[in-house]
Amino acid sequence: MSLLGERAIVAGAGIGGLIAAGVLSEFFHEVLLLEKDALPLTPGQRKGVPQDGQIHVILKGGDNAFAAVFPGFRECLAVAGATPLEFGKDLQTYEGGRRHSPKSTGIVVHSQTRPLLEFTVRTLLAKLPNVRILDQTRLMDILRAPDGPVTGVAITDKDGQRRDLAADLVVECMGRSGYTGRWLAKNRGRMVAETELGIDLVYTSALLHRTAAWRGRNFGWITRPTAPHNTKSGVLVPIEGERWMMTLSGRFGEVPPEDEAGFLAYAKALEDPHVHREAKDARFATPITSYRIPRMIWRHYDQVADFPDRLIPLGDTIAGFNPLAAQGMSMAALHAITLRDALHGGLGGLGGAQGRYMTQAMKIAADAWSLGEMLDFAYPQAKGTRPDDLAERLAARAAVFKLAAHDKEVRGLVFEVQNMLRPPSALQDAALLARAFAV
Ligand SMILES: Cc1cc2nc3c(=O)[nH]c(=O)nc-3n(C[C@H](O)[C@H](O)[C@H](O)COP(=O)(O)OP(=O)(O)OC[C@H]3O[C@@H](n4cnc5c(N)ncnc54)[C@H](O)[C@@H]3O)c2cc1C
Repeated sequence: MSLLGERAIVAGAGIGGLIAAGVLSEFFHEVLLLEKDALPLTPGQRKGVPQDGQIHVILKGGDNAFAAVFPGFRECLAVAGATPLEFGKDLQTYEGGRRHSPKSTGIVVHSQTRPLLEFTVRTLLAKLPNVRILDQTRLMDILRAPDGPVTGVAITDKDGQRRDLAADLVVECMGRSGYTGRWLAKNRGRMVAETELGIDLVYTSALLHRTAAWRGRNFGWITRPTAPHNTKSGVLVPIEGERWMMTLSGRFGEVPPEDEAGFLAYAKALEDPHVHREAKDARFATPITSYRIPRMIWRHYDQVADFPDRLIPLGDTIAGFNPLAAQGMSMAALHAITLRDALHGGLGGLGGAQGRYMTQAMKIAADAWSLGEMLDFAYPQAKGTRPDDLAERLAARAAVFKLAAHDKEVRGLVFEVQNMLRPPSALQDAALLARAFAV
């Protein structure tokens, strides 16, 4: 394929930036990936991703996207020690007020810490000869021709020098704070419309050494609270190094403690005993840390008049979700695949690529948002504009989940939607709903 341009710049080497850089290597002579942090040479936490000490599950939709861009992705994760888990079978889930016995779905993903996932993808990316990762390099500004397309970025490099870098395409993946929105407001006087949903959620996590009975075994436990009375959730999943990642969460003032005794006591108060039963005799491998997520936020870049050409926002800068649905990294990965499709559709030029990308990227965000808001609006304390059909949607969701407990096909469909392999509309089919309400 002929190249679309000399240089593309990706800002932010988090999950979205890593996969976007992999995609762009197909289309540009050179790809520069800018990251303000010093990137560790081994799997390690870093300041620019403050959420990386918490559980990070990559759904099947995201897993497929990474495997499509980086052949060998799954094998590399497995070699690094990530644990394969089959949704439904290797994860015992308590949800909707009952425990579901393990059943096969065929949907297998890997479980690992976020630092291991990033490190694995960085290693795969470093093998691409036309990609350069410039760490300790901070994007300071996006440059554009007067009333024309974006032409590059201004940076502060490793040595503290400020300079400009020209680019044919700039992809902004700098995370939840939404740099593109702030840049549009400052430079173009365009306020980006935002949808917010106050979820007031706290995640608290630690790594534990697996007990002898569970070493070498791939099995985990998830307890989801029954809304609206309970907000406590808990997860215990195997990760690299024969350890468990244990995450507890609470919301609307319910906060899991950061001391070991308090943390285990909180686990004991979950609706289902399994997480506590398995974890209580395990040794803690790390301190316990918390991360607060006050709100979900969705920026409607597609509604901005004259959005500058050759600028692509991707990942959390578009929408940051409730992590309980584990959608963020997979959405970023699906955005990257959308970018690839949009560039392929360019037939020899960059013209129109941004419009094609934006429409589809927003649809992916909208689907993820509609799944996420069902988790949140089930609680009256969640702050935001409730959809007019909320009661019907919550009732339909509960009915389909009930049917799924007995019907293998419906259970498979639910897992596919939750894994971002199908849109949420797949669960709104009239025939399916009629069967669900008849149970
Ligand atoms: C507690 C918690 C748990 C989560 N659990 C899950 C989960 O289980 N599954 C899941 O899929 N998602 C999960 N998420 C969401 C996930 O973390 C994000 O969706 C994902 O990281 C988004 O990727 P991104 O590339 O858009 O942003 P990020 O991964 O946040 O990366 C942004 C990058 O930009 C860099 N940067 C910022 N400013 C600059 C600058 N000026 N110049 C250069 N670089 C810059 C940062 O250092 C960082 O590396 C969770 C989120 C939270 C808060």
